[in-house]
Amino acid sequence: DVKENKQLLVEKDKENIWHHITPYSQNHTPLIADEGKGSWITDHNGNKFLDGMSGLWCVNVGYGREELANAAYEQLKKLAYFPMTQSHVPAIQLGEKLNEYLNNEYVFFYSNSGSDANEVAFKLIRQYHEQKGSPSKYKFISRYRAYHGSSMGALSATGQALRKYKYEPLSSGFLHVAPPDNYRRPKGQSVEEYNIRCAEELEQKIIWEQKETIAGVIMEPLITGGGILIPHKSYVQKVAEICKKHEVLLIIDEVICGFGRTGKMFGFMHYDIKPDIITMAKGLTSAYLPLSVTAVRKEIYEAFKSSNENSHFRHINTFGGNPAACALAIKNIEIIEQENLVARSALLGDRLYEELKELENHPYVGDIRHKGFLMGIELVENKDTKEPASAERIGKIIKECKDLGLIVGKNGDTVAGFNNILTLSPPLSSTDEDLQFIVDVLKKVFQENQ
Ligand code: PLP
Repeated sequence: DVKENKQLLVEKDKENIWHHITPYSQNHTPLIADEGKGSWITDHNGNKFLDGMSGLWCVNVGYGREELANAAYEQLKKLAYFPMTQSHVPAIQLGEKLNEYLNNEYVFFYSNSGSDANEVAFKLIRQYHEQKGSPSKYKFISRYRAYHGSSMGALSATGQALRKYKYEPLSSGFLHVAPPDNYRRPKGQSVEEYNIRCAEELEQKIIWEQKETIAGVIMEPLITGGGILIPHKSYVQKVAEICKKHEVLLIIDEVICGFGRTGKMFGFMHYDIKPDIITMAKGLTSAYLPLSVTAVRKEIYEAFKSSNENSHFRHINTFGGNPAACALAIKNIEIIEQENLVARSALLGDRLYEELKELENHPYVGDIRHKGFLMGIELVENKDTKEPASAERIGKIIKECKDLGLIVGKNGDTVAGFNNILTLSPPLSSTDEDLQFIVDVLKKVFQENQ
């Protein structure tokens, strides 16, 4: 009996599955996804949801793309695996494709996840400085509220204390500074002045820590998981200048922002900077298969090309650069190109904002910010004091959206009390009707929560 089987699924889930980062609760019933098509997910009961978060900000081209399944299938039949100590055709083709967007200035190291890609960046930067005669350069500067992954190094770079404190000590040598949070900037400062000050604080950190010890800075083009904090252009440009001045390498984490999410192919392209390292995952394959990339400027790669036995990068992983994942990534980028999804992201994001900006008058909406099809709606209890909205208020809004068939995210930083930002990051392939659905649900729910 189907009904019984459905109940059985829930029980089997409870019995066998440990859910990621979900508080244990006897009553927690996860959404058990069964099918996906476009921007929509169907659960095991046949209920449909528009996935306003593209899974974990990753299914950029939407669900159910047969071309992607076929690209992987054909490659699996031809050559399912070969290690990246050697090479294979899809790995080379993908590298060439990525370099079309990056002026042929990078080489690509393949891994499996965003965390892996950042670990690779940290390790190779330390080795780079050592081989260039500056072995004391080992520290990394990141920002509070940033998320860079769950493995020990990537978690060390993460600036959200609650995710870390039970797992310490983590890797040493990771320092943090505050990111610009324009909505909460000090009174009397323009956004630009404030952003320049934030960049100057990062420079002060480099100076006080002694620049000879600082290896790199890691940042996203805009903080995503920490609550959609979009810097002024001057901040990113000044940080890039500061890094150059102090011989500190700049890692730009494009794990979420890459592949069209912010309305450009890569988020850093909004700021006219050239990162030393770019890390990519999620949207690279639209999460159909695991794959990540650490893109490294060719000048940096040069430092590893010596006949000296010990100068190569001693890092390997079994699955990184899997041929089927690479073949799928190429097809995924072709879809982004053929359907103009980068431009569509910018268009949909602007239209979403136009439709929702009237919510800025809502008593609990403090700020709405977006770049491309990536939006944060910051909820507050009081618009004058900007006191973050209570967990209950936000939970109720999220539940009501879900009851009407829309999945929205909640992000920020719990330890600082700022886990109060509703987030939207829908597939870039969303249709006009999908967009209207998102708008209608949000307007209805906010109207009922005055
Ligand atoms: N970097 C950023 C900006 C992320 O948002 C994430 C994951 O959400 C990661 C890195 C880690 O990626 P993964 O979960 O694939 O290890």
